[in-house]
Amino acid sequence: MNVLIPSPKPVAVVGGGIAGLSAARRLREHGVPVVLFEGSDRVAGLARSFQDDSGFTFDFGAHFITNRLAKCVGIEKECRDVKYYGESVLVHGKLYPYPFGLVGNPRYLSSAFLSRARGLFEKAPAESAADWFARAYGSAMADEIAIPLVEAWSGTAASDLAPSVGDKLGASSIAKVLWLRAAGRLQNKAIANGYCSELPESAQVWHVYPEKGVARVCEKLAEEMTEVIQLNSKVESIQVRDEQVRSVVVNGREIEVSTVISTAPINLLPRLVQGTDSLTDLAEFRFKPMVLVNVMLEGRHLLPNTVLWLPEKKFPFFRLTEAPWSMPWLAPEGKTIITCDIGADVGDEIWTRTDEELGEFCLDHLEEIIPGVRQRYLGVRALRTPIAYPIFLRKYEERRLSVTQDTGIAGLHSVGRNGGFDHLPMEDAYHRTLRRVDRLTAALSA
Ligand SMILES: Cc1cc2nc3c(=O)[nH]c(=O)nc-3n(C[C@H](O)[C@H](O)[C@H](O)COP(=O)(O)OP(=O)(O)OC[C@H]3O[C@@H](n4cnc5c(N)ncnc54)[C@H](O)[C@@H]3O)c2cc1C
Repeated sequence: MNVLIPSPKPVAVVGGGIAGLSAARRLREHGVPVVLFEGSDRVAGLARSFQDDSGFTFDFGAHFITNRLAKCVGIEKECRDVKYYGESVLVHGKLYPYPFGLVGNPRYLSSAFLSRARGLFEKAPAESAADWFARAYGSAMADEIAIPLVEAWSGTAASDLAPSVGDKLGASSIAKVLWLRAAGRLQNKAIANGYCSELPESAQVWHVYPEKGVARVCEKLAEEMTEVIQLNSKVESIQVRDEQVRSVVVNGREIEVSTVISTAPINLLPRLVQGTDSLTDLAEFRFKPMVLVNVMLEGRHLLPNTVLWLPEKKFPFFRLTEAPWSMPWLAPEGKTIITCDIGADVGDEIWTRTDEELGEFCLDHLEEIIPGVRQRYLGVRALRTPIAYPIFLRKYEERRLSVTQDTGIAGLHSVGRNGGFDHLPMEDAYHRTLRRVDRLTAALSA
């Protein structure tokens, strides 16, 4: 696929996460000159992995990728199959396997039926996420589970969130989930469900884990392009004249470019882009920061499933993940890690606690779920990210939908999870970016 573009100026890609790396790789395949600037000293962004001396592996964000993504990147031979993945919900002291256990609760079921019946006469679209959940799940399940969970990860009232939050999290049909589960049992593999919306889910797409950690996805992409990638190179500004990108400034040096593909958080663009004020309003787009506390414990299978959702406010964490349920090799034998997701704000009382304080805090609240957890405690490692989840506020929903398609500045594209301001897993970030780059190169060559 070599469509040589006769432009002496390169395309600048901002960021070396999966979106930036896949954009750069595709541009190279098209014969377009490209340079990728990564502000930190390594690639992978939110998909970084860490190993400690005692044999524990921590992933920053992403744990679960698919065999299909691994193949696209060229690391399928370096991956192990994941054989099991499951989720449960704990509410009012009762444990429900997700999603079918919830359907077995007569109160949730009757309320869902009632709301579906009402929906037959409802013509107006949902106005908010709260409205969306009540219509989709019925008021009992919406009020007790869906809405508290969404409010916990977003830190925002569900009535202030756009209905598209529900569309993003919208469950697959029951028949499809049943089929995928059955296929998984037959093949002894964790069939992926809810980890990609750009490509279809099927019995041939399952979870795998790279032997060297999830960061390997990005490292492999980077290995093929060492001459294109500049680490420790923060893009300080993107210079625009007459609403057209002209250059970028990196480490004090101005470099003329034909186009910028940015994967930096979209709400930073107003500060980054100089020479126009047409992006000023993007500064109000918000991300929810998260403190991810990895508690290392003696024992295995201490949670009922890989993921445990906790909608009740008495818990400071809304989600617990015991990744070794699915990837036993992430902890030494007979030991485990539980990741506690706690919503925070940068600099607040949770954010500024030491790792040890966070470990103690989590143990206090884990006791109710894992009696005697303190006796199992081996240590803690906390990771903090200011940009865990994009918050779809109703007040800027229209702007979100338009700007993520077109920034309005010629030659400036904002893509990826944070640049595209969307809840994208890695496979979606990868394919959506490729599609965008293909459109861009087609336009450039035309
Ligand atoms: C808690 C959590 C759990 C997740 N779990 C999963 C999962 O299980 N499976 C899955 O598939 N996905 C998961 N995801 C999503 C996945 O992590 C993301 O989709 C993916 O990593 C996003 O890649 P990206 O390239 O869009 O952005 P990023 O990874 O954020 O990359 C952006 C890069 O840009 C760089 N940058 C920013 N500004 C500048 C600048 N001015 N100059 C130069 N460089 C700059 C940053 O340093 C960074 O390296 C999870 C995400 C979170 C937060």
